Amino acid sequence: MFQSNFKHYINEIRNGNSFFDEKWIHRSAVFLFGVLHLLMALLFLCAAAYAQAALAVLLPLVYITITTKLIKDGRYLACYMVTHSEIILAVVILILLSGWDCSFDSYLFASITASFYFTFNNNKSGKNTKKSWVPLILSTISVLTFFLCWILCRVFQEPFPDGFAPFGHPEWINVFYIFNTIVSFGLIVIFSYLFVWELESRQKVLTTQNEQLDELAHKDSLTKLLNRRSMDQMIALRMQELKTTGRRFTMILGDIDDFKRVNDTYGHDAGDLVLVSVANTIQNTVRSNDAVCRWGGEEILILVDDDLDSAYLAAERIRKSIEQMEVAFEGKKIKVTMTFGIAESIPGYKIEHLIQQADDKLYYGKKHGKNQVVKKLEEK
Ligand code: GH3
Ligand code: MG
Ligand code: MG
Repeated sequence: MFQSNFKHYINEIRNGNSFFDEKWIHRSAVFLFGVLHLLMALLFLCAAAYAQAALAVLLPLVYITITTKLIKDGRYLACYMVTHSEIILAVVILILLSGWDCSFDSYLFASITASFYFTFNNNKSGKNTKKSWVPLILSTISVLTFFLCWILCRVFQEPFPDGFAPFGHPEWINVFYIFNTIVSFGLIVIFSYLFVWELESRQKVLTTQNEQLDELAHKDSLTKLLNRRSMDQMIALRMQELKTTGRRFTMILGDIDDFKRVNDTYGHDAGDLVLVSVANTIQNTVRSNDAVCRWGGEEILILVDDDLDSAYLAAERIRKSIEQMEVAFEGKKIKVTMTFGIAESIPGYKIEHLIQQADDKLYYGKKHGKNQVVKKLEEK
């Protein structure tokens, strides 16, 4: 269980696409704390410091009992507060019992980074602004504890009162100094790294969500072409530009011929597939600065940066590509054609007028044989 969770956790770090499971991270932290205390108890036994060894066993027993219950109830912030209190309490007692030279105070530094990490972990949405004060208060307590211990050591402890020997083997003090310093530095690095990683991970998720929202707002979900709302905005902008700079554009309105028959013969899914293929073919045929939108059911509107004649050539190119296109569906090949009406923007025209012109020409083409591009009504 732990191993598979750990693998999942590492994979998430590698992919950078999800947050950690809060329950798991708190459980792991409590587990690591327990292991750390046990290691320390062993070291105390080796150093013949029996009072400290007893403390290193008893304190985590109480701590693990309380935090396990809190984690079970999903009270993660309370769980971290208990952890922080346990660190403070253990550090004070161990410093008082063992002296300043074992470097137990270094855990107070590590507790500052941990408090920011665990509080942040608890408030990923950023909604609960009150929680931002929690790590500041906890850090202040850590700093005050540091000075309190330092003063207590200077005033009361060193040298220890006659007859009190904290270590049966005082040479182990150096071992404690090295052990505590390395573990504390390690914790600082780990929590800082996790903190930054979580922030980056959150940023990535937000970017992806923004892109998805942007796509939902501007694109048609089936064809991935621009939706009608975006095209309306684009046309309004181009009309404005036409007024101010005189830069013209042309509108090509296309409609798939006898599309109902495709649906009736092959089914709605086949119809959808044809629509997507038509959209892709058109998108691949136009130039990158031309805008293609799904105007209605199987109607496509294209805005091209050209005059009527050039747009006519572009529409012809599209018509031919659609004519040649074959859509494979359940072993069958579906072929469709399209009819187009084109209208060039003229200063002073209203948007509705322009669209109406393109629509009239499309309608005209439908009535006169379909699969064609209609440039001028009177020519037909
Ligand atoms: P025409 O040549 O005159 O255009 O004939 P048509 O059969 O294409 O007629 P019309 O444009 O009136 O019908 C369009 C059909 O397109 C009706 C509707 O069921 C179908 N349609 C619209 N949107 C979708 C869609 O998203 N998926 C599918 N599969 N069909 C759609
Ligand atoms: Mg049609
Ligand atoms: Mg139609």
